[in-house]
Amino acid sequence: MFDKVLIANRGEIALRIHRACREMGIATVAVHSSADADAMHVRLADESVCIGPPPSSQSYLNMAAILTTATMTGVNAIHPGVGFLSENARFAEMVEEHGLVFIGPEPKHLALMGDKVQAKEAAIDLGLPVVPGSKGAVESLEEARSVAGDIGYPVLIKAAAGGGGRGMKVARSEDELEDAYRMARNEAKAAFGNSEVYLEKYLTRPRHIEVQILADGQGNAIHLGERDCSLQRRHQKVLEEAPSPGLNTEARERIGEIARQAMLKLGYRSAGTLEFLYEDGEFYFIEMNTRLQVEHPITEMITGVDLVREQIRIAAGHPMTLRQEDISFNGHAIECRINAEHPETFVPSPGQVIDYHPPGGMGVRVDSALYGGYRVPPHYDSLIAKLVVHGQTRNECLMRLRRCLEEMVIDGIETTLPLHRRLVENPTFINGSYAIHWLEEWMAAHR
Ligand code: ADP
Repeated sequence: MFDKVLIANRGEIALRIHRACREMGIATVAVHSSADADAMHVRLADESVCIGPPPSSQSYLNMAAILTTATMTGVNAIHPGVGFLSENARFAEMVEEHGLVFIGPEPKHLALMGDKVQAKEAAIDLGLPVVPGSKGAVESLEEARSVAGDIGYPVLIKAAAGGGGRGMKVARSEDELEDAYRMARNEAKAAFGNSEVYLEKYLTRPRHIEVQILADGQGNAIHLGERDCSLQRRHQKVLEEAPSPGLNTEARERIGEIARQAMLKLGYRSAGTLEFLYEDGEFYFIEMNTRLQVEHPITEMITGVDLVREQIRIAAGHPMTLRQEDISFNGHAIECRINAEHPETFVPSPGQVIDYHPPGGMGVRVDSALYGGYRVPPHYDSLIAKLVVHGQTRNECLMRLRRCLEEMVIDGIETTLPLHRRLVENPTFINGSYAIHWLEEWMAAHR
């Protein structure tokens, strides 16, 4: 096993990884920007090194600085966390070239799944059902028109390099196609430096269902059930639950097994998530995330499996000892993403947290790097806390979540807590009948 791991991330996820390392007897090295000198992940790590100024391009994305720090501090491995360099194949390769272990998949799988056009082609080869759409990228407006004519409107134009919901545009009819096509390309070029786009049927009322996978690249793969991430704003997840209130046991086992077989066939190593849309009893693959997911704790709550620990063990070359028959699902879990944003306008609200009181008690987990007096810097993602709640049934989980949202205090900055407090009282949320477009429609209607 590793003696020392460098955590190339910040915030709650850096802390999450630090905790797993600590419990495994592994020392940790934190890296941080000058804006994060007082951050919790820096305070708790065994060693910490400032690697650059506040902008992430010069700190958390600065590969040379991170690799130099890794060499200087004598770590065995680097955990990239979520976002930043976690899906960067070149970085993973460089880590290996430095004689270190990248705690994640092989670079070739990062590269394959990082390009959504290639990923979709690979998915078809692996036997995964996909959303009807263009075969590969669309090279011209004429081609887009012809594909859209074949599959029928509405269609969605998506960036090959996409992520975070950017570079995605809907065309409801042929009149809207030209604008949507140009806007998607421009947005993709601006956000990812790659204007390649592809086209998909736009599903009007699917759920977002994703399957958690663990595989060791040595012939073992398991699935840990699904997460329902249908509550979204601008294609970004707001609240997630496991299991999905929209799946029955048959559908759950079917998609889990399909995902598991695909990972075995691919020879995938590490934790990963296959994302699907689910409509009228059918699953459609949309993408694979080759890393830990923000919402991984809800899977941990219902399976009792520590996903980060497993990721680290697999990276250290240990064959997985968990088998599919060892995985059972216990109760229900929900995660609320709490962002430093205005709850109605979603304008970021960085600044000093005056008072912080996380809820506690049975079945409650708060993953956060906040503390009273902490100053949320304006330079990074606005996620500041994840409130994760478990109950024996979905109803118990909802009652507990309400109680926790009442108890939780984050004063001094605006947060999305009030949005979650409204959401847990909503009948559509309570009865679990929502699909991916519902949250935005509901918010628009209740402004
Ligand atoms: P990103 O990598 O930017 O997150 P995804 O492909 O994972 O993009 O899609 C993000 C979200 O966009 C999905 O969860 C879903 O809400 C929506 N979406 C993606 N593809 C479709 C589609 N074909 N029809 C309807 N909604 C879609």
